[in-house]
This record gives sequence, C-alpha cells and structure tokens, in this order.
Amino acid sequence: MTVQVTFWGVRGSIAAPGEMTARYGGNTPCVVLTNGSDEVLVLDAGTGIRLFGEWLTAHRPATRHIDVLLSHVHWDHIQGLPFFKPLYQEGYHIGIRGPGPEGRSLEEVLRQQMDPVVFPIPLARAGAEVTVDELEPGRLTVSSWTVDTMRLQHPGVTFGYRVQAGIDGPSIGYLTDNELGGGDRHGLAAGWYDDIVRKMADRKSTRLNSSHTDISRMPSSA
Ligand SMILES: [Zn+2]
Repeated sequence: MTVQVTFWGVRGSIAAPGEMTARYGGNTPCVVLTNGSDEVLVLDAGTGIRLFGEWLTAHRPATRHIDVLLSHVHWDHIQGLPFFKPLYQEGYHIGIRGPGPEGRSLEEVLRQQMDPVVFPIPLARAGAEVTVDELEPGRLTVSSWTVDTMRLQHPGVTFGYRVQAGIDGPSIGYLTDNELGGGDRHGLAAGWYDDIVRKMADRKSTRLNSSHTDISRMPSSA
C-alpha cells in the first residue's frame, strides 16, 4: 500500500504570503494523507486546508467523507476551516476529531471562531454534515487508518499522532508545536517524552514544524 503525504500548509503561527514563502511556508498547517482509495485524512485545518478544499472538489468528486484530526485549537491549526469549500456543500460529511481544550468543548471552540460577530456564516449553517468528537490518548480507528494519539508539551491540550495505513501499512508521525526543552510543563504525566519515542519507534517518517530556521534560537514555547 502506498500512502501519499501532501503538505498544503507548514507555516507556524500565521499565514505569511510573499516572495520568500511562494514555494514553502505561506500557509498555516494542513497535511493530507491519501492511500489510493477515496479516503482522505487531514491533519490540522490551518489556512492550507482552503487550497486542499479547492483541489478536492475539483479533482476528487467521489470523496464525500473527510476525516480531520486536529492537533490542538490554537488559531493557526483551525483558522482555515471557515474557508474549506466542502464545508458549504451538501453531500459531504466532515468528521473532525481532536483533544478537548481546557475549559470548554472542542465543538464550542470551532463554533466560536465562526460566531456571527467574527464570521458571516455560522458553523451550524454549513451545508455539509459536520461531526466533532473529542479524543483521549490511546489508539483508535479512523476510516481505514490506525491512529495513536499522545499528549505533546504545549499550552492547552495538544496531541501528536502516529497514523498507519490499515494495521500494517506505512506509518507517519505528526508532531507539531511540541516543546522539546525538557521538563513536564502543561500538566503532562511524567514520562510523556519516552511515550512519544516508544510510539514513534517504528514509524516510517516523522513530520515536525517550526517557525524558526535556526534551532538554537528556538524559545521554549515555540
Ligand atoms: Zn500551538
């Protein structure tokens, strides 16, 4: 089985259009996995998901079910969702999953970024069927993918994902915004780092992102 990984957005914090980012780094995080079937698995809904939505509706009309895994709800990881074309088209089902944020529900946060005060179309009026489910650390099946979730060291509740095609196909790790400076801030259980290393031990590749080109300048809370 072949898995294709497409990077529609890799920019941390904020979209940055311009000459320097015309090829890489213009859009905030959105990575899409495909496996040769009609399935698509979307990792994060930064501004890159807008381009993916345009591509999907134009080139993959048979795909009507879209799985989305959010690493967390910091703005750069969800801000593309209101501009995701399938969201406004009947006949699509968009299954959004991610960790529950602190103090409110995942669905509440997604609705708030489309509240009429700040966006003209509320999530409740999306033409697509949208489901929102909160995940716990552990293993689950998403369509035909096997997904392991794990807490990362980052403010709020942030998950990394190990995604495997089927039960024995290729796998990748998606670890974003993780603070590798050591310690166990943000309420993580002791041993969180070892847990990530163990779960990623047999992955075929790991995707990390950073806003910084010089790792020596990376602050502890990038
Ligand atoms: Zn973040």
